[in-house]
Amino acid sequence: MTERRIIVIGAGLSGLSAGVYARLGGYPCLIVEQYSGPGGVASCWKRGEYLIDGGIHFFMGHRPQDASSVLFRELLGGDMGDRVAEMRIYGRYVDENKGRRVDVTRDLDRLARDLKGYAGEDLDLINLIIEGARRLRRLDLSRVALYLPPELSPPLARLGEMWAMRRAWRSFSGAYGRSMSDFARACFDPWLSRFLANLFLPDVPVWFVCFLLALLADGGLGYLKNGSLDFVRSIEKRFLELGGDVAYNAPVESILVENGRASGVRLEDGRILRSGAVISAADGRETLFRLLGGRYLDKAAVERYSSWKLAPAGLTVSFGLRRELADEVPLTTISLMHPISFNGSKVQDLSLRIFNYSPAFAPKGRCVLQAWAEADFDSWQRLRDGDPSGYESEKKRAAEEILKRLEKHYPGISGQVELADVVTPATVRRITRNHRGASMAWMPTPRFFKTPLRRTLKGVSDFALAGQWVAGSGVVPCLLSGKHAVEILHRSGLKPSGG
Ligand SMILES: Cc1cc2nc3c(=O)[nH]c(=O)nc-3n(C[C@H](O)[C@H](O)[C@H](O)COP(=O)(O)OP(=O)(O)OC[C@H]3O[C@@H](n4cnc5c(N)ncnc54)[C@H](O)[C@@H]3O)c2cc1C
Repeated sequence: MTERRIIVIGAGLSGLSAGVYARLGGYPCLIVEQYSGPGGVASCWKRGEYLIDGGIHFFMGHRPQDASSVLFRELLGGDMGDRVAEMRIYGRYVDENKGRRVDVTRDLDRLARDLKGYAGEDLDLINLIIEGARRLRRLDLSRVALYLPPELSPPLARLGEMWAMRRAWRSFSGAYGRSMSDFARACFDPWLSRFLANLFLPDVPVWFVCFLLALLADGGLGYLKNGSLDFVRSIEKRFLELGGDVAYNAPVESILVENGRASGVRLEDGRILRSGAVISAADGRETLFRLLGGRYLDKAAVERYSSWKLAPAGLTVSFGLRRELADEVPLTTISLMHPISFNGSKVQDLSLRIFNYSPAFAPKGRCVLQAWAEADFDSWQRLRDGDPSGYESEKKRAAEEILKRLEKHYPGISGQVELADVVTPATVRRITRNHRGASMAWMPTPRFFKTPLRRTLKGVSDFALAGQWVAGSGVVPCLLSGKHAVEILHRSGLKPSGG
């Protein structure tokens, strides 16, 4: 059995997906996960009566008409059912300095009107964004996420994909291919510049934001009603029902390579687990530099790991409130008049998630409000390692500072807090091993989208990479990366049971 078994490292979305596809392909499969449960960065935890969700916010690509929905059906063994609540408002943007407020709704005309009302000198830039989004409407953009990795692409595969998208070409090139922050620098109005940069991460290409706006307008975005972990557990359940095995609290220390082929893993407790092939769906750096000892790096990987920008690390503070916040927008970004400082970071923008779209997160009359702010990994890790009590008090102080700022927007909130849960970049590192607490892996820059990342390594066969460090952050790319890793092994000649 072991010569056909696939060992998957990591029980995040990508590793679980690899596990299900391994079983569907007839391979015995064991997933080994260093943490005590599944999910990786897509996780939830219970605090008293509150469910705190540390992961997925926007869900996409799941509607029956989306090309990517086949993934969900295969991974869940059925359709999505009523797991997803429809998103009507993408977000609310509040600027304390200017006293401005814009809601990004499904109505693109309204968004154009609101932005022009505030920043009339920037008509051309506003029109460009709105037109870009309009052109992308009713196009199945989940196909973009379905791009095959280089190992599975016939030479002309992309031509067919590009032809299918020809109506939208103009929305991917020229100004649309620049980063949003670069594009926003051309605004006359500094408020508009900041608004555009904050619509998603500032380094994403303009087309990515147009794509989100188009998807929103078409009703293609939603929220997971029961939170990230419920979705993760459904995939884990499917894996177990298909006969897969999973071991938690089983950190891998190294990947065994014998005669040029991956033949198993050594766990940190010294146990050796043999297999016919290994898929690593763990952090990319952990896999390449630690588990494989840096022996199979090509020039491109060295360059990537030494110079590519990481997605930002953050401080996440979740408040369990004796209050409903029923009429609030589930995603609100506040540009603060006076920045908050904590542990090496000066925070200008607070991003708020308000879990008011489902009763799963809090009992009636209560709600979870979660604030996120960019944070410095080194300062938090140093504090945690060197001064544990200072670390705890800085977490407490950061939560108090944030709460003070929220009082202006949600009067009375300070007296309604029943709990505050604080996650630092050091927590993310500890629980998921993502490098420098970059829970969304690489910054999704224009360069990132233009660079197809290989899932195999020269010099080691029966091995494939999956996960957000090769596929990019996001549910669909990660789930697909698990499927692709199994396909790569299958095509390279790994025989399933009875095969
Ligand atoms: C706050 C947040 C919000 C997000 N929101 C959205 C969203 O709205 N929409 C969307 O589509 N995507 C979203 N994402 C992105 C998406 O959730 C992630 O890209 C995806 O969950 C990553 O899954 P993964 O399995 O590739 O990686 P991970 O979740 O990092 O899983 C890797 C796993 O490997 C394990 N591991 C690491 N090293 C070892 C080892 N040595 N031995 C054993 N196990 C190991 C880790 O413990 C972990 O469980 C969000 C992410 C975050 C952090």
